[in-house]
Amino acid sequence: MFEKILIANRGEIALRINRACKEMGIATVAVHSTADADAMHVRLADEAVCIGPAPAGQSYLNMPAIIAACEITGAEAIHPGYGFLSENAKFADIVKEHGLTFIGPLPEHIRMMGDKITAKQTVKALGIPTVPGSDGEVSDAEAAKLAKEIGYPVLIKATAGGGGRGMKVAKTADELSFALSTARAEAKAAFGNDTVYMEKYLEKPRHIEVQILADSHGKVVHLGERDCSLQRRHQKVWEEAGSPALNAAERDEIGGIVTRALTQLGYLGAGTIEFLYEDGRFYFIEMNTRLQVEHPVTEAITGIDIVREQIRVAAGAGLGFSQDDIVFEGHAIECRINAENPFTFRPSPGTITQFHSPGGLGVRFDSAIYTGYRIPPYYDSLACKLIVHAKNRNECLLRLRRALDELVVGGIETTIPLFQKLVREPDIINGDYSIHWLEKYLVEAGH
Ligand code: ADP
Repeated sequence: MFEKILIANRGEIALRINRACKEMGIATVAVHSTADADAMHVRLADEAVCIGPAPAGQSYLNMPAIIAACEITGAEAIHPGYGFLSENAKFADIVKEHGLTFIGPLPEHIRMMGDKITAKQTVKALGIPTVPGSDGEVSDAEAAKLAKEIGYPVLIKATAGGGGRGMKVAKTADELSFALSTARAEAKAAFGNDTVYMEKYLEKPRHIEVQILADSHGKVVHLGERDCSLQRRHQKVWEEAGSPALNAAERDEIGGIVTRALTQLGYLGAGTIEFLYEDGRFYFIEMNTRLQVEHPVTEAITGIDIVREQIRVAAGAGLGFSQDDIVFEGHAIECRINAENPFTFRPSPGTITQFHSPGGLGVRFDSAIYTGYRIPPYYDSLACKLIVHAKNRNECLLRLRRALDELVVGGIETTIPLFQKLVREPDIINGDYSIHWLEKYLVEAGH
């Protein structure tokens, strides 16, 4: 096993990884920008190295500085967390070339899944159901022809896409050429690649994703599904495990399909296969080859420490359990609490003047904030994640209510008031929502 790991990230996820390392007896190295010198992840790690100025491009994305930090401290492996360099195949290659271990999948799988067209073609060949649409890049003429066949509305997506950018809906044939040109322009600006493809636009789907873990000995297991349908601008806001829409047979079926596909692929580490789910059918949208923000809800219902397993399999160890050993217990919900206005979502960086975290049975609070901490304006606005677990969904909602009421974050605006409303909404209580529910709710509520 590794003796020392460098954590190439910041914020709550850096703390999360630090915790797993400590419990495994592994020493930790934090890296930070000058803006994060006082950050909690720096304080809690055994060692810390400043890797550059505030802008992420010069610090958290600065590959030479991160490799140098490993060499200076003697760290043998790098955990990239999520975001930043976590899905950067070139970085994974460089880490390997320096005789270090990248705690994540093989670079070829990161590359394969990072290109959405390649990803879609690959998983389709492995038996995973996909959204009807083009199997590759489309020209305007091909798009018009195909859209007629599959029927409007259609969605134009960027092959290099991420974070919902480069995605445009065409409701009718009249809107198609505008959707194609704006999606291409947005993709070019955001990713430097204007390749787009087309999919049938599903009108009322849920977002359901399957967590998998794979070791280097050919064993792949799934840890069930998460329902991340409550989204704003394609960003997840609230996540649940399991999905209020799935039964155990459906879970076993999709879990089995995914597990067999990734076994064939020879996948290593943790990964998430994302689907849209409509009228009892699953449609692949993408695979994330990294740890996800919402992984704690899966940990809550399975009792499996996903970060610990990522570290173990990266070191060559086998998964210590089989599919039959995995038991799903109760229900879990995560709220992503951002430093933003709760209804306009305008970022609200600043100093936290008051802070009280909720506690009690079944409550997990993952954050890097503290009283007096100044949230810097340079990075994403995730301030904390509140995760609650209970015997069933109903008790989970009641526990979430009381945990939200205990939580105090003063001095900045946060999205806590939004969650306090959501947890009391009949549709949410009934589990009756699609990926469009939240945006519609925000419009209807006048926000
Ligand atoms: P990104 O990588 O940019 O996040 P995804 O492919 O994961 O892109 O899609 C993000 C979100 O966009 C999905 O969660 C869903 O809300 C919506 N979406 C994607 N594909 C479709 C589709 N074919 N029909 C309807 N909505 C879609």
